[in-house]
Amino acid sequence: MSGDTTNGSGKVRIGLFICHCGTNIAKMVDVVKLTEEFSKHPDVAVSREYRFMCSEPGQELIIKDIKEHKLDRVVVAACSPLMHEPTFRKAVERGGINRYFFEMVNVREQVSWVSTDYESATAKARRLINGALARVKFHEALEMRRVKITPRVMVVGGGIGGIETSLQLADAGFEVVLVEKDDTIGGHMAKFDKTFPTLDCAACILTPKMVSVGQHPRIRLMTWTEVENVEGYVGNFKVKVRQKARYVDPSLCNGCGACYEACPARPVPTKRKLILGRQVANQGYMLSGVKMPALAKEETKTPAVADAV
Ligand code: SF4
Ligand code: SF4
Repeated sequence: MSGDTTNGSGKVRIGLFICHCGTNIAKMVDVVKLTEEFSKHPDVAVSREYRFMCSEPGQELIIKDIKEHKLDRVVVAACSPLMHEPTFRKAVERGGINRYFFEMVNVREQVSWVSTDYESATAKARRLINGALARVKFHEALEMRRVKITPRVMVVGGGIGGIETSLQLADAGFEVVLVEKDDTIGGHMAKFDKTFPTLDCAACILTPKMVSVGQHPRIRLMTWTEVENVEGYVGNFKVKVRQKARYVDPSLCNGCGACYEACPARPVPTKRKLILGRQVANQGYMLSGVKMPALAKEETKTPAVADAV
């Protein structure tokens, strides 16, 4: 659906629906008073309050009012859009107007749940609703379109979060490129002995996941690599990365670490010292089974630091 929904009048007819959320909102915001006040707003054709707007009767109320009062915009003051924006957009569409002629105001998470004063919470809700009423006038009808996307995902950061994300995405069937600026994955968790609150062995959790990343057929691991530029849009990003030189042929190096002991320069970076200085972290790398080729310092051109076996 698209085009002018104001029947050429240039004026909008907004339906405003303020939700009590049981007592979640109503205990801290004067919902009845605001509904009454906004019924006098020049752009508001219908102003209502209801206990549970997301319920089926609540949605039916919106649909009925759109039809009966010829509404062309809808504002719902309720919870976070993250929860119910799709619910209300569908209801608005079922009422016969474009789903994007809708604005949601968060008077729960951003007002009632974080306020202790009834008057100031009501005043804040009033200001937020006023903003939404002003904004929704400028909404344009948008159409849903299907576009081709590249079903390949880049995960930036090879800590436990990036590792877990990569594994889940790869198991779901997506091709994953995991980029890590350091010379190995594992992140901070590789430096821990135990994890809070269960005091489980950090390496016991981390290393099987590192192995899975290294062996997963749909994960391409790029360590010692930094993101330089991102362009494009959702579904079609182009990312430029810089993979730093290791001065070791990664196809030949198996990461055995022997060169570290033999190296006369032994320029162990501070960060590496920190990691290797901790027994469990060291075990983590040793047990990980992820092939992380050695690094050589540019000035020595000699393999100097072995990452993992
Ligand atoms: S719409 Fe949101 S605020 Fe209203 S009842 Fe449902 S969950 Fe609660
Ligand atoms: S870690 Fe060092 S010694 Fe071992 S294969 Fe790689 S470059 Fe050679």
